[in-house]
Amino acid sequence: MKKVVLLSIVAVYVPLISSCDRIFGRGGDDDEVLPATETALEGVDIHSLEDSACEQSGAVESTTKAYTWIWNGTESVKTQVDLAGSSGTDGEFMTAGVLGALRDLEAVYECEVVGGEGVCPESGTVKSNGTVMKLCRSDLSYSREALESQLLTTHYFVEKSKSLYEALPSAKSGLVKAILFIQPRVIKNYKKEDGTYARLMMTDNASFSFAKTEDGEEYGVFSSYPTSKKYYSQTPVHLWEVPFVMAHEYGHNIFEHHVGSVANSVGLRLIAGDGFKKSIMRTNMTELGSGLKTKTPLNIFSNLLEAETPAEKALGGINELYADLFSFYVNEGKSDLLKGVACLETSRDPKSDKTAAGTEKKWTTTVDDIFTGKTSASTSEDCSEPLYDDIHDVASVLGYVAAHLIDSSMPSATYKDKLNLLVQFADGIASHVSSSGTAVRVDSLFKVLVALVKQNRTTGSTATTAICQELAAQIPALTGSVSACL
Ligand SMILES: [Zn+2]
Repeated sequence: MKKVVLLSIVAVYVPLISSCDRIFGRGGDDDEVLPATETALEGVDIHSLEDSACEQSGAVESTTKAYTWIWNGTESVKTQVDLAGSSGTDGEFMTAGVLGALRDLEAVYECEVVGGEGVCPESGTVKSNGTVMKLCRSDLSYSREALESQLLTTHYFVEKSKSLYEALPSAKSGLVKAILFIQPRVIKNYKKEDGTYARLMMTDNASFSFAKTEDGEEYGVFSSYPTSKKYYSQTPVHLWEVPFVMAHEYGHNIFEHHVGSVANSVGLRLIAGDGFKKSIMRTNMTELGSGLKTKTPLNIFSNLLEAETPAEKALGGINELYADLFSFYVNEGKSDLLKGVACLETSRDPKSDKTAAGTEKKWTTTVDDIFTGKTSASTSEDCSEPLYDDIHDVASVLGYVAAHLIDSSMPSATYKDKLNLLVQFADGIASHVSSSGTAVRVDSLFKVLVALVKQNRTTGSTATTAICQELAAQIPALTGSVSACL
């Protein structure tokens, strides 16, 4: 088996990680000057290996089962799953789609605060290149808080998503192999205008990005960040245990696989957020030092990409919508996928017609004006309500609209059929991007899906007129989508 030089990742491009994150600091502590210290990480629940001796000894030769910890809406349950894996030449645990996992990665960004807002450089300094993880227990059974369990659970959801995709009639070969980053530490050091410092760390999140090794091979990187103590005290779940999360990240991989090169060829970069930025905006950077409010770019081990044009932002929003729908159907449309997960519950559930705050999910002209920057967004700190200025808000609103349209138009379709429709949707987006280039908008991209659903209606579909009228009511700002439906 090919030896993987995991330590030589030198360039990441088309990163799919969120750009501007809002941080709502607790205030105070302004005099705290923080050089890197152990205690500076006290707000984060950093996990460690349960079987650390394994790194010096052998590793699992091969296995077909593993234990994971999966969130069921109330608690995380130890669950045995099929996960056929083996160890590579260095003893790292590998499966068909995952080349290995790294722990102990750390990147630090030296940022400044200008006019009350944080400004970070495009690239951070990699302080620790990480260590390849190995597994020695033949039954692959570890306690919930072990790093090994995080590896296995993340691994499982990546493999599950991959195998479901590859079984689809419209699947395209050549998916990148995945590398997992387990609890990477992404730290931002802010030098404030008064000369003091604050430190923030990325937590309670997941991301998908690309990496190239020195020899030019490309990999997909699935990152699973640590949990903050603050977040965990609100909901006793680690995000990697939630089935929606890594399947969502895998959805970004599929979108990239079908759309990426076409988008790049017309000068569009694919922008996606860090999984769930908006939904957990208050906690995705856990404060390590003093509080401050930032609007700042962030990326990990890579250069920053922030949506700079309306077309990129629209494509970014559709990418988030795509990832949510992909995850929804990978998880067989379960309505309680995000149950109990603070900020994500209801708002990001494609089955819910309302946000957690009770607002109807509609893409109104007002919403569209905020998204396109014609009007400014509110600055509410309530994560139960979308602000409509972020690409994930497209997923929140149109995730429901799209799932409702698909499910009522294709009631006799299986989840496999619906996943296949999504693959065709990605190909349709690629064609549309190819012909329209920088003219693409949320409206025109969504129309691609509406037209596809129209072609694929199955027995028992809700009457055409009724469903299109409903669509018109849900997205009055996207009138073109409705005419495509009728
Ligand atoms: Zn995402």
